[in-house]
Amino acid sequence: METRAQVYEGKAKILYATDDPTLLVQHFKDDATAFNAKKRGTIHDKGVVNNRMSEHLFRYVEAHGVHTHFVERTDDRRMVVRRLTMLPIEVIVRNRIAGSLAKRIGVKEGTAARRRIIEFSLKSDALGDPLLTDDHILALGLVEEETLNEVKRIAGQLDDLLTAFFAQRGLELIDFKVEFGLDAEGRLTLGDEICPDTMRLWDMKSGEKKDKDRFRHDLGQVEETYQEVLARVLAD
Ligand code: 5GP
Repeated sequence: METRAQVYEGKAKILYATDDPTLLVQHFKDDATAFNAKKRGTIHDKGVVNNRMSEHLFRYVEAHGVHTHFVERTDDRRMVVRRLTMLPIEVIVRNRIAGSLAKRIGVKEGTAARRRIIEFSLKSDALGDPLLTDDHILALGLVEEETLNEVKRIAGQLDDLLTAFFAQRGLELIDFKVEFGLDAEGRLTLGDEICPDTMRLWDMKSGEKKDKDRFRHDLGQVEETYQEVLARVLAD
């Protein structure tokens, strides 16, 4: 697939146009940021891990009925994806209270949730991705009601699929962030990436954190952990 002009550069990825207007190439970088880019660094070969892991998980959820933007992985750091018109929201699914939620409401990290939490934030680096309620989204016309309901349904389905997938590999899925868009036919499609940058995974035996929190909180063994999670994901 021939790449043309760069259409977007984010903190962890670059998107390139291709000779097909409906397809983009998604390139995964080693750059890492945290706390709204206040902390910056690189994680050696993170891009390779995130590309492989996203490929594997996109294939897995697609096989279970979730429409994704993934088309094919072309090399270590790149995959071809469908061009989407992204919804202006991030979708966060939580199975335990951790991260920004634990901090915001003063609850101990790891506290069990009685039920799954699905929350939304505005995609805005400048504003630090502020939390949005359903009413905000609908009142501001950010997403149509029917689409928002479908987003919630698919987010729950993804949580069930990914929780089971990681449990088989000895990892508890604590929370994750996904992004959706509409493809050329207007179909709601899972975009972005699914990798240790965008989810929390805790080892079921040791309780150790196996995700980007190792970088965020200087816990050490960052590169090794990304490699370990990839190996666990790829194991049958
Ligand atoms: P929290 O809101 O607790 O910081 O994040 C909840 C979950 O969503 C975590 O798994 C976190 O990695 C992911 N997440 C939320 N916002 C972002 C974001 O802007 N970038 C990335 N990479 N992950 C995010």
